[in-house]
Amino acid sequence: MAEHSPCRVAVIGAGFGGLGMAVALRQAGIDDFVILDQADDLGGTWRDNVYPGAACDVPCHLYSFSFRPGRWSRRFPPQPEILAYLRTLADDYRLGPHLRFGAGVTAAEFDEDRALWTLSLSNGDTIQATSVVSAVGQLNRPALPDIPGRDDFAGPSWHSARWDHGTDLAGKRVAVIGTGASAIQFVPEVARTAAHVDVYQRTPPYVLPKTDGLYHHGRQEMFERLPVVRKADRLRIFLYGELLTSGFVLSPKFLTAPMQMWRRQLRVITDPELRDKCIPDYVMGCKRVLFSNDWYPTLARPGVELVTDPIERIAGGGVVTAGGVARPADVIIYGTGFSTLDFLAPMSVTGLAGRQLHDTWRDGAQAYLGISVSGFPNFFLLYGPSTNLGGNSIIYMLEGQIGYVAAALRAQDAEDLAWLDVRPDVQQAYGDWVQAASRTSVWESGCRSWYTTAAGRNISNWPDHTFLYRSRVRRFDLARYRVMPGQAAGTARAGTGAT
Ligand code: NAP
Repeated sequence: MAEHSPCRVAVIGAGFGGLGMAVALRQAGIDDFVILDQADDLGGTWRDNVYPGAACDVPCHLYSFSFRPGRWSRRFPPQPEILAYLRTLADDYRLGPHLRFGAGVTAAEFDEDRALWTLSLSNGDTIQATSVVSAVGQLNRPALPDIPGRDDFAGPSWHSARWDHGTDLAGKRVAVIGTGASAIQFVPEVARTAAHVDVYQRTPPYVLPKTDGLYHHGRQEMFERLPVVRKADRLRIFLYGELLTSGFVLSPKFLTAPMQMWRRQLRVITDPELRDKCIPDYVMGCKRVLFSNDWYPTLARPGVELVTDPIERIAGGGVVTAGGVARPADVIIYGTGFSTLDFLAPMSVTGLAGRQLHDTWRDGAQAYLGISVSGFPNFFLLYGPSTNLGGNSIIYMLEGQIGYVAAALRAQDAEDLAWLDVRPDVQQAYGDWVQAASRTSVWESGCRSWYTTAAGRNISNWPDHTFLYRSRVRRFDLARYRVMPGQAAGTARAGTGAT
């Protein structure tokens, strides 16, 4: 077991959030940091999701850092380009020496006397740091469904985020379970190769058009020479996202135009029975809205069948649906999403007085601005509870959070503070507002989604317009935190104006 001398900041996760945080640390003059990742490469979700057709469904000019425009081959770039963007970012900001792979954090424990976090790593090492930034994301633990007989299947099977590129699907009968954002990207690709695809749908999604298009050389040059054109496009994408968000958080009447677009898309399906199967019975946005031009045409093509009978069990030779109907399959692909609500799992996090984060979050994860949890000093979350989006770019949210955390670290240094910890009353008031706002949002309108707890409470999504989140995190306010002076002694004193 190796022990290293304490560092200023330990960042957990080398995806968009962790790398963006590292850039901000560099810009703040903090070079004493490590970026820990359980995998053997950077990229986070863009490293893990290598299924055929993987691409971002948010246009690239908004799905990238504002300080770091990319050079993209098309409006919705494929996964390898996004991963390459992150690699270039890491190279350009010389993050390589800070990256430690094969270093999953299993536990984090705060030592109040020394004002230090100790992180236990999967490789047996420990790391100590004054501050910790968790950037592990929310969509990193694949969820396999609890269907009886899943292990009895005789052929190959895998989850979309663990794609088996070694199995050739040519000429095979493929069963795909799930019709979420991942499945609607890989099913059209699989259908081009396989002999037959059964798509098992439990709930139909709303699928809006994807305004994709190639960016040829001339266009790329224009975006580089005339940044105003790229920025105008970024703004346009953002405003469309805010229109969708208005429908999700204010009133579905803002969704009139998107609903018309969806109905137009659906017209490519001429078979009335198939079309009926594709019509959701919930308000648009309650589950994530999807973007694709080839989903409905794929469902309508020969060799693809949309199966809506409930799955009874999985057998050695395929899937058995209600009433014991056996549907043979050579391969099963699970597009069944991720374990989303146990944020930070399986890490155990111990804060002040031995407080356990998973106990604190027993009734649902909650954090002030999605970033700070009372009782866990100098511990910051990126893409924490209630900061996911249903209609806009998560990179925009991450940038706001990264700026906020960098400001917190600067304030800590400027004031010579051993630690800062968000005040419980501040967190409570904020949490009450989030819950009240969520109650009137589309996410609590009654559908089943990965945003909500079993009781139907939204703990994933930011329940307001995206720009209003950014205005909340624009400034770090030390008065909202309890602080411990440096040279730690005595008891915590309140920050300016603290109660
Ligand atoms: P998902 O949206 O959670 O979809 C999972 C699918 O599996 C749903 O259709 C679900 O049905 C179905 N399912 C789950 N358990 C099942 C069971 N026991 N029996 C039958 N069906 C079952 O997962 P995802 O498609 O991987 O996407 C997750 C999130 O990742 C997205 O919402 C999005 O935020 C992100 N993502 C983004 C992109 C992008 O381009 N930006 C691409 C992919 C993913 P129900 O709907 O009935 O639960």
